[in-house]
Amino acid sequence: MKDYEVIIGLEVHAELSTNTKMYCNCSTSFGADPNTHCCPICTGMPGVLPVLNEKVVEYAVKAGLATNCDISRFSKQDRKNYFYPDLPKAYQTSQYDLPLCLGGHLDINVNGEKKRIGITRIHIEEDAGKLIHDAYTGDTLVDMNRCAVPLIEIVSEPDIRNADEAVAYMQTLKSILEYLNVCDCKMQEGSLRCDVNLSVRPVGQKEFGTRTETKNLNSFKAIHNLIEFETNRQIKVIEEGGKIKQETIRWDDAKGIGYAMRAKEDAHDYRYFPEPDLAPIVLSDEYVNNIKDNLPEMPHIKKERYMKEFSLPEYDADILTSSIKSANFFEKANDICNNPKAVANWIMGDFARMLNEKEIEIDESKVTPENLAELINLIDKGTISSKIAKQVFEDMFESGENAKEIVEKKGLVQMSDEGAIKELVEKVVQANPQSIADYKAGKDKAIGFLVGQIMKETKGKANPQIVNKLLLEIINK
Ligand code: ADP
Ligand code: MG
Ligand code: ZN
Repeated sequence: MKDYEVIIGLEVHAELSTNTKMYCNCSTSFGADPNTHCCPICTGMPGVLPVLNEKVVEYAVKAGLATNCDISRFSKQDRKNYFYPDLPKAYQTSQYDLPLCLGGHLDINVNGEKKRIGITRIHIEEDAGKLIHDAYTGDTLVDMNRCAVPLIEIVSEPDIRNADEAVAYMQTLKSILEYLNVCDCKMQEGSLRCDVNLSVRPVGQKEFGTRTETKNLNSFKAIHNLIEFETNRQIKVIEEGGKIKQETIRWDDAKGIGYAMRAKEDAHDYRYFPEPDLAPIVLSDEYVNNIKDNLPEMPHIKKERYMKEFSLPEYDADILTSSIKSANFFEKANDICNNPKAVANWIMGDFARMLNEKEIEIDESKVTPENLAELINLIDKGTISSKIAKQVFEDMFESGENAKEIVEKKGLVQMSDEGAIKELVEKVVQANPQSIADYKAGKDKAIGFLVGQIMKETKGKANPQIVNKLLLEIINK
């Protein structure tokens, strides 16, 4: 079998978190009863006139600047015509030949290596409605709440070479959009989704192979699995002497299989033409510069600041700033307890693991920054041991109670009373003459065993420094 190279380009759709839709005052909020957030404009009744929501342009320009694009001073909107029941107007207002943003790039990190992925363009367009298939009656219903919710489409150059790079690209893009606060990036709700264009070619061949396009992938896992599936499928077809057809594929996430849906359309199939009801978008340098000057601190700048201001290792700073949510959590907690390394360790360690297991993000957890800071204060003051703290944290994570309450309720306060600990130490020393003999014969490990016995007696509550000190005093007496 020949060696093949995989060529991937992503088209990412991000729903903009404006309060209202693209051309009317209807709400964009997710999860409302079907067909309650629509009006004659967003359902395309004859005779209505759209008015472009200024925020849409502002948000798209922000995304363009943050991904190193040139912002067009003159762009226009176009009609992309197609007939499908989720699109009552029978055309989608989008941008064709004069998009808002052009020629940017994103730097991604894959397994410790940096790579630059080109961004061809970012344009604004409206979302379509949603079809709901009722498996019981066999009916298909339409919910138009999503019609004309504003989107940006971010089109990458075909610079991506495998599933890991594709996922890293999506993660980086998600992080940037969240930092900018232009998209809530809830992939499970579809507010961030991507189409994967993929082709393969024998290593050494110059021209690209024929590509397929898989639509609307809405999790990192689905993107990863589809890419592995489609790569193998295409190589197999070619190895068996077949030809790849230019097709649109539907990915069945549950089954882990992609199905060919239809021949992929070309641009001319859409009969694009300029939208006659909307004026061109003309931006002044002043407008663009004002947005540029007011962009929030971006991930790589924040990372540098964390290393300087909080003396954090690069590794920690990188993880904390990879999402604005963990960065905000970190800063809030640290403002209270002033122990950056401890806060970082919690966020990257036990906390991260538990969030992963529950498949939730840090801002969806019952643990607040205030709660974590209080826990760290209790450790720093010696009220609880770090071992007990792990137990308290599990409890905080499940119940949402604060650390102090849990410690008091469960009697977990650390024993630091030397008199009481001394009694216990003497008891354990008397009960384990062999260990004492071992220690005196030079086996330092015996001390660990004895400390363990004392901690067991106190259910982990004895202050380990005091236990160690007293133990050595007593044995060496
Ligand atoms: P459309 O999908 O609307 O026809 P384009 O032709 O501009 O739009 O391509 C969309 C995406 O497909 C881009 O991300 C581009 O990088 C990628 N792409 C183009 N050609 C190939 C190819 N041969 N293999 C893989 N990806 C490709
Ligand atoms: Mg496409
Ligand atoms: Zn409306």
